[in-house]
Amino acid sequence: MRLRRKPWIDEAVKEFESFVCLDAKEEMKGRWRSLFADPAAPLWVEIGTGKGNFIAQMAQLHGDVNFIGIEVQLGVLYYAAKKCAAAETENVRLLRFDAAALESIFAAQEIDRIFINFCDPWPKKRHAKRRLTYRLFLDRYCRLLRAGGCLCFKSDNRGLFDFTLEELTARRWSLSEVTYDLHNSDIVNEAMTEYEAKFSAKGQPIFHCLATRPT
Ligand code: SAM
Repeated sequence: MRLRRKPWIDEAVKEFESFVCLDAKEEMKGRWRSLFADPAAPLWVEIGTGKGNFIAQMAQLHGDVNFIGIEVQLGVLYYAAKKCAAAETENVRLLRFDAAALESIFAAQEIDRIFINFCDPWPKKRHAKRRLTYRLFLDRYCRLLRAGGCLCFKSDNRGLFDFTLEELTARRWSLSEVTYDLHNSDIVNEAMTEYEAKFSAKGQPIFHCLATRPT
């Protein structure tokens, strides 16, 4: 999802500055929980939040969890902020940030769960390292997740899904809830993303897996 840059968004996003952070800094390492009403609650992070459907719904469903959504494009993050504000969620913070540098702002084992939904497939083989489930990304997530923490992954792209399962297996993550048709499976799908709604409306199956980090 590449949105044309809209200069008015730089100003408009300030309306949401109480829960949107545009310049996350290293000083926040290990301190993200302190931003929430209940710092003892688990921290769940969505990478590539897009326009926020998923995180806004999940935050409503799980009022006892703290959520951080990470999105690199401000023009997209703005719409996620609008959605979270409309949902009146108190337990969400949104960061404009590049997931490639997550370890510069999160401490080891700070996160309980990571969600990656419909990330860009980067179909060309020479771009494999850019996929958010490339093994070096998985190694970062592993360091950031607490012991027993897991990664939840959804995609419409079979090539990316197969690649992701291979990478997870190669890095010794424990796979569970693997399905090639999430919406016709027994797995509980609590919230849909924008892309998920779009693809499933066209009759495309949704691929899903849950992976627990290696010890
Ligand atoms: N998760 C949403 C959904 O399912 O509807 C959006 C999917 S869209 C294909 C992927 C999103 O990930 C885009 O909004 C893009 O800007 C964001 N993204 C891509 N690379 C990223 C990165 N390195 N860090 C943070 N966000 C990223």
